[in-house]
Amino acid sequence: MVDLKGQYEKIKPEIDKAIHEVIDSTAFINGPAVKGFQADMEKYLDVKHVIPCANGTDALQVAMMGLGLKPGDEVITTSFTFIATAEVISLLGLTPVLVDVCPDTFNIDPEAVKRAITPKTKAIVPVHLFGQTADMEVLMKIAEEHNLFVIEDVCQAIGSDYTFSDGTVKKAGTIGHVAGVSFFPSKNLGCYGDGGAIFTNNDELAEQLRVVVNHGMVVRYYHDYVGVNSRLDSIQAAVLKIKLQYLDDYAKARQSAAAFYNKAFANHPKLKTPVVAANSTHVFHQYTLVTNDLDRDAMQKFLMDKRAPAMIYYPVPMHLQKAYQDPRYKEGDFPVTEDLSKRVISLPMHTELDEEQLEFITSAVLEFANK
Ligand SMILES: *Cc1c(COP(=O)(O)O)cnc(C)c1O
Repeated sequence: MVDLKGQYEKIKPEIDKAIHEVIDSTAFINGPAVKGFQADMEKYLDVKHVIPCANGTDALQVAMMGLGLKPGDEVITTSFTFIATAEVISLLGLTPVLVDVCPDTFNIDPEAVKRAITPKTKAIVPVHLFGQTADMEVLMKIAEEHNLFVIEDVCQAIGSDYTFSDGTVKKAGTIGHVAGVSFFPSKNLGCYGDGGAIFTNNDELAEQLRVVVNHGMVVRYYHDYVGVNSRLDSIQAAVLKIKLQYLDDYAKARQSAAAFYNKAFANHPKLKTPVVAANSTHVFHQYTLVTNDLDRDAMQKFLMDKRAPAMIYYPVPMHLQKAYQDPRYKEGDFPVTEDLSKRVISLPMHTELDEEQLEFITSAVLEFANK
């Protein structure tokens, strides 16, 4: 599904040098590489504060802790996401309130969000799924009307641009009150281990987040809050500082692979290609088809057997996960999510796909679809 080796080979001298500099300096934690990456990322995103942390799950958890959300507070998020989004809500004793998604973009449905708001609602967590930004203008308006925080899960969409109706363009992750990102190796900006970061434009919140990631420590060994230990190590930061320079090129490579797939499957009655919202760019963390009148699981097996990998993101919606069995939810509650979970299939998507590989994958897909 990804080719991290091929990507590394192209930037090997720079990466090796940066890693060795960290080792030579022995500044493994909080070294200059971390500060340097943080500053570059702030500039790239045009955001005031980037707070590095250990992974994307921590980023989301710390964001919620920094906002001071309390047990019993309701947090609205999508049922069509990776478990981490809902997991941190639950772990903090908050109440996850799941809602359905839009059938075209797979992103959280603002109308469903509106219907889910109660006096206990404190926050909305849109997930910019597969690489395009959720409808943030509408979500921010809803949040403002109801005095809610918006925490963006930007783990899959770093680099995506969102355009407001007045023409203003902002990067995904800089629109809500706070955002969490993952630098897991296979993400669009991936390091060589685990990594993550939190973004915010709010100075006070940024201070709070820096305290939370560092054991709730304001003055050394004086702990004002119960925090966590969540750090981005210097070697990962050094890798990210280099890869950030290539992030837009990486997005272009993904977009051209997506264009190749789109062309090959255009107007196919059994394959619906990704719909890109008019107000967002798509950085294709995943290239996800919606199958129609096809045995999706047989198709995955067929492709795997041909060594053209295909994955199902996600086969089970949150509300039907065993861990999330809840009397509030039952099968049928989120028809769009449930339907998508039965019909989606994601094809290999990364920065190193060449024409030959794309040709091979598309012909395998078409062979199955045309059977
Ligand atoms: C990857 C991912 C996360 C978690 O990131 P980790 O770095 O693996 O903790 C959270 N949400 C979404 C949508 C993701 O894709």
